Amino acid sequence: MSASNTDFVLAVEGLTVSFDGFKAVNDLSFYVDKNEIRVIVGPNGAGKTTVLDLICGRTKATEGSIRFRNRELTKMKEHQIVRAGVGRKFQTPSIYGDLTVFENLEISFPRGRSVFGALAFKRDEEVMTRVSEIADMIFLSELLGTRADLLSHGQKQWLEIGMLLIQDPELLMLDEPVAGMSVSERRQTAELLRRITKDRSVIVIEHDMQFVAEIADKVTVLHQGKILAEGSAEEVKKNPKVIEVYLGH
Ligand code: ADP
Ligand code: MG
Repeated sequence: MSASNTDFVLAVEGLTVSFDGFKAVNDLSFYVDKNEIRVIVGPNGAGKTTVLDLICGRTKATEGSIRFRNRELTKMKEHQIVRAGVGRKFQTPSIYGDLTVFENLEISFPRGRSVFGALAFKRDEEVMTRVSEIADMIFLSELLGTRADLLSHGQKQWLEIGMLLIQDPELLMLDEPVAGMSVSERRQTAELLRRITKDRSVIVIEHDMQFVAEIADKVTVLHQGKILAEGSAEEVKKNPKVIEVYLGH
């Protein structure tokens, strides 16, 4: 029996993962729309990172289903999930410090079959165009020739987002992208997130409620692997259960 098709980009249903009997994610269901920015909040240990690990295939579900554009992800391998259009940024940036911004973006461009002669030239042009579009979007067009290890913390985070964007994922997942950023870098990151959801959906894990209110279409509050509340940032902020287990601390 297969579930009926859905217009949601992502449909998570009954998702459970058990680590030695401990359910880090427990019968979780949620749905993400096209062009939506969904923010996941919740206390430490709530299961937020584990949800992203499950979606990107790094952790295998014990039960339940994760459908991305109606394709079941729980049966796919990590690299197949990437190829299907799901990009994931981890908490620590994985950029190449000894390469320039340009080179970091260039090596992240999806590799096709090898091409020769005139075709290779055409591909080079395509890569150049795409690298410069992305560099613009991530506020790094003036720094294309700079070694990545010389960038500020915030610029490194943007570069890594750019390295994912150049692969054009339909769903992008970011785990605490503004941690350690300055106020102005946070503001720019909010702007960046709004730009990139013009043609994709984004799931962001975040703690800073001011930043959450600025970017979220919808907020999901996780607690002990389950949904405690879901709604607009305004709605969840005044939810008594959310204040008790999360915001009150
Ligand atoms: P959050 O990101 O919300 O802080 P996590 O998803 O990292 O929380 O962790 C949720 C719970 O699951 C924690 O209690 C954590 O210790 C546990 N956990 C996460 N990954 C594993 C694992 N691979 N093995 C055992 N326990 C894990
Ligand atoms: Mg986490």
